[in-house]
Amino acid sequence: MKSTEAVAYYFNKAAAELGLSDNMKTLLLTPERSIKVEVSIPMDNGEIGNFVGYRVQHDSSRGPFKGGLRYHPQVDTDEVAALASLMTWKTAVVDVPYGGGKGGIQVDPKKLSRGELERLTRKFVQRIHDFIGPKIDIPAPDMGTDGQVMAWIANEYAKFHGFEPGVVTGKPVELHGIVGREEATGRGVATITREVVKRQGRTLDGMSVAIQGFGNVGSISARFLAGMGAKIVAISDVTGGVYAPDGLDLEELTKYSKSAGGVKGFSHAKYVTNEELLTLPVDILIPAALGDVITTEIARNMKARLIVEGANNPTFPEADEILNKNGVIVVPDILANAGGVIVSYFEWVQNLQNFRWTYEQVVREQDSKMSQAFDKVYEVAKSRNLSLRLAAFYVAIERVAKATELGGF
Ligand code: NAD
Repeated sequence: MKSTEAVAYYFNKAAAELGLSDNMKTLLLTPERSIKVEVSIPMDNGEIGNFVGYRVQHDSSRGPFKGGLRYHPQVDTDEVAALASLMTWKTAVVDVPYGGGKGGIQVDPKKLSRGELERLTRKFVQRIHDFIGPKIDIPAPDMGTDGQVMAWIANEYAKFHGFEPGVVTGKPVELHGIVGREEATGRGVATITREVVKRQGRTLDGMSVAIQGFGNVGSISARFLAGMGAKIVAISDVTGGVYAPDGLDLEELTKYSKSAGGVKGFSHAKYVTNEELLTLPVDILIPAALGDVITTEIARNMKARLIVEGANNPTFPEADEILNKNGVIVVPDILANAGGVIVSYFEWVQNLQNFRWTYEQVVREQDSKMSQAFDKVYEVAKSRNLSLRLAAFYVAIERVAKATELGGF
């Protein structure tokens, strides 16, 4: 199933539950605008570098489009469109005043020099600057892009439209960024995990957790969950995984993976493959690396009773069905990893007001938004007997459909 089909699958199930008309379903599934631009730049060796850039603007009924910008060799219209629609549902479920967008350039950024990366970014802005802006569409970092890329975008955009730092979020703190953004997604994953466990009348104390991915989301989720009392027993990255049933020493593992370039080979832990990690006998599993990792076979062999999706789209729809049948609770990506977009929203608000928030304020407001979103989804799941995923889509689609109706066509 392609990415767009997977999102449409959940959308259609939740839309049927809501009783949406076919015309409204078509309207909500179709992106408002899809942009594809040629982005050619002079390379360091004097030759022309040819690249293609994309921006899909899915829905703006609740506010400006919002979503990341990805630099990756596999970026294409289908993937960008699926991720743009996921952003519509994600921003709606956590109730921030945005619609969904996503973009990217088909390129391997590791193969570009810093100068080439800057020229590529500035050329892309020259191509699309009339279609983005703090009140129109607000990109953010995603795979292959970072705060530096956002700083170049803001700088290039200002040449056409004047000082508007709110045109992108995820900027460096020294250049109108916000404190706490780096850790926001991982902290949100941990907050949501704690909320689910609380609803089961338990605490995280001593619960075992396996995490796939030791990058931004994985490592920060691990740190916060450990701080809440959970026992992190397995972690993996692109090099493979490590498993220690009595718990991993996160500080040592972080030091080791920095020096060795990955977690593989860490002593006092057993080596496991990325696939094995997903079926370890643990209480909680957090996929926080790639999409499409939980297949039907893995779902059948899964021992964890709670999955919190840090990564986008980690579970195939067919696998999701199996997990539901087996009574495994899955907190969907659009809710679980929404911490980043929530704090991006605070950054944008801060930029519009030219005012700085403190770290404590950011943490308090993020926690409050995530807990409110979780409460709402949980209540709908219980009252309508839906999985948390379908309940999250239900809440999101209901909000977007209502805004569309109220705004008029
Ligand atoms: P990252 O680049 O910081 O880390 C990715 C991790 O995945 C690394 O540890 C890497 O080694 C590992 N990895 C890469 N290829 C792998 C493979 N083949 N098998 C196993 N592990 C592999 O990325 P991140 O920001 O932590 O994002 C992780 C996921 O979370 C992505 O799906 C991303 O879309 C999603 N996400 C991130 C944010 C955010 O704010 N960073 C927000 C929402 C969703």
